[in-house]
Amino acid sequence: MSKRALISVTNKEGIVDFAKKLLNLGYEIVSTGNTYKILNKANINALKIDEVTNFPEILDGRVKTLNPYIHGGILFKRDKEEHINAINEHNIKSIDMVVVNLYDFEGSLKQNKNHEEMIENIDIGGPTLIRAASKNYKDVIVVVDPSDYNYIIEKLKNNSLSIEDKSNLAFKAFSMTARYDSLISNYFANILGEKYPKYLNLTFEKESELRYGENPHQRACFYKESFSQNSILDFEKLNGKELSFNNINDLYGCLDILKEFKDEDKVASVAIKHTNPCGVATGENAYEAFKKCYEADSVSIFGGIVGINSTIDEQTANILNSIFLEIVVAYDYTPKALEILKQKKNLRILKIKDLNTSNRGYDFKYLDGKLLAQDENEKLYDKFEVVTKTKPSKSEIEDMKFGMKIVKHMKSNGIAIVKDGKTMALGPGQTSRIFSLENALYNNKDKDFNGAVLASDAFFPFDDCVRLASKYGIKAIVQPGGSLKDEDSIKACDELGISMTFTGIRHFKH
Ligand code: 5GP
Repeated sequence: MSKRALISVTNKEGIVDFAKKLLNLGYEIVSTGNTYKILNKANINALKIDEVTNFPEILDGRVKTLNPYIHGGILFKRDKEEHINAINEHNIKSIDMVVVNLYDFEGSLKQNKNHEEMIENIDIGGPTLIRAASKNYKDVIVVVDPSDYNYIIEKLKNNSLSIEDKSNLAFKAFSMTARYDSLISNYFANILGEKYPKYLNLTFEKESELRYGENPHQRACFYKESFSQNSILDFEKLNGKELSFNNINDLYGCLDILKEFKDEDKVASVAIKHTNPCGVATGENAYEAFKKCYEADSVSIFGGIVGINSTIDEQTANILNSIFLEIVVAYDYTPKALEILKQKKNLRILKIKDLNTSNRGYDFKYLDGKLLAQDENEKLYDKFEVVTKTKPSKSEIEDMKFGMKIVKHMKSNGIAIVKDGKTMALGPGQTSRIFSLENALYNNKDKDFNGAVLASDAFFPFDDCVRLASKYGIKAIVQPGGSLKDEDSIKACDELGISMTFTGIRHFKH
């Protein structure tokens, strides 16, 4: 008895050729409305679905294959007598292959179709066919991806489609229907404004395999959200090896800070080490910005990554080339600059695609089977309230804003000492705020901090930071405020002739 393949596809790519080859292999073909028309036009002998179901397609195609002649033919167990008897008794014919891809719900999402159209683009019969065939994968071949057509034909030709192949096809099929339903669930969550629903059905797909994770003994992969807008990590690579796990993580840190400068006239340059900034500066052009950024800390930048939100020219490329860097990322490169940078075979040279990506609104931390989910930290400050007798100068206020953009992205406790749009001393990630300040100052003890501004990611629990800062000549401090002991710090500032400004927004980052 010949085998039957049911073909019902929305994406008709390659289907005519596949169907022809199935016919040659002795399959009988059954197909639905438009698929049938296309096969018929190509002179492929096929049965119309209603010739099998003895029932017309109704409700604009909402009910085509939802029928016991179809699902019985797919779902019966080939090695169970009762099942075989039932099939024979009801004159149901076996269906041995199901070739289905679904209504294009994802495409409709991308096209922002109206609600009615979205609902019509929810496939019902398709997932049912796929799930039925996948459940019975030992006896039914399920094909959901046009890129599998060739390999399946080859395997069928030499009779080598194994049980592993079939279970792989079923796995792929179940993954596909799960993803499809997640997209629908997210669509409803969105229109209902359910940001943190009971079941968070985000779906991710593999963007690339990574050589290893944070350390060489950890396996690693890079996933992207199935349905998402542009990401700041949508870069274009012009040179160098594949990016590593740590590269991608650092690159994100770099671009996230550059994003803070998107509305400024000046060019910004950011150097990152282990996700923390080690130098940040603004300038009239790429050269000036990078030169200041490099001078800010010419030691830590070794093996780091540098981002510039402008076009890199020859002069800038020359200094960049004198440093060992993992990545250079910028909007663009002059041909000469690119030629210079490419002299380093391994240097990853990346082009930023878009820093103005809309915020996703989410921030996640995966913790041993649990997920901490929160809103993205979008706000920089609520206010600029001077709380001391001494008032900051105009240029100090500029530097306060600059400093806040940086401490926001430093691991807590974070302290940034800045002057004239350039970091002078950074103290990230210490267990006590005074340690962060000490680290920043002691590592830069030869610098003159007169006129510099100190920015802190969270409030001062004591007045010790104010007193230490004053010893180094710092005259202006910006911090969120909100400590029970704010008054102590304010008093110390007034005593020492320092201005202090409260922003009202804390920027912990862990
Ligand atoms: P065609 O283009 O052949 O008219 O329809 C193919 C599409 O119909 C496929 O994407 C398939 O998943 C879907 N489909 C098959 N059977 C049914 C059904 O009974 N109801 C619905 N809503 N869709 C179906």
